[in-house]
Amino acid sequence: MPLYSYRHSADSRSCEHYPDFEFDQPARDLPLTVCPWCGVRVQRVIGAPAIKKRLLDCELRDKGFTKLVRVDEGLYENKTRRPGEDKYVDRHRPETLPKLEKTIRD
Ligand SMILES: [Zn+2]
Repeated sequence: MPLYSYRHSADSRSCEHYPDFEFDQPARDLPLTVCPWCGVRVQRVIGAPAIKKRLLDCELRDKGFTKLVRVDEGLYENKTRRPGEDKYVDRHRPETLPKLEKTIRD
């Protein structure tokens, strides 16, 4: 799905997406006219829409990221599990936390 850039037409400093934000939408959709978060008028910034690249979990891991996906209260699946790490991270069991000392090298 193309990613379009928008700019607030008026001051809306309280909006966390001010002044510019990007928005995923099908190419056939009409451009947004107002900010989905604060309702202030917006204009699409013309340019080639960027195709958002979603990294695979293994690519995230190779880049040194850790991705945890919540599966239950206090329980997360470690999607970027490295050798020796648990598949699930339990908030109440610190030994299941990702081993960051293996990721951070400098
Ligand atoms: Zn806004």
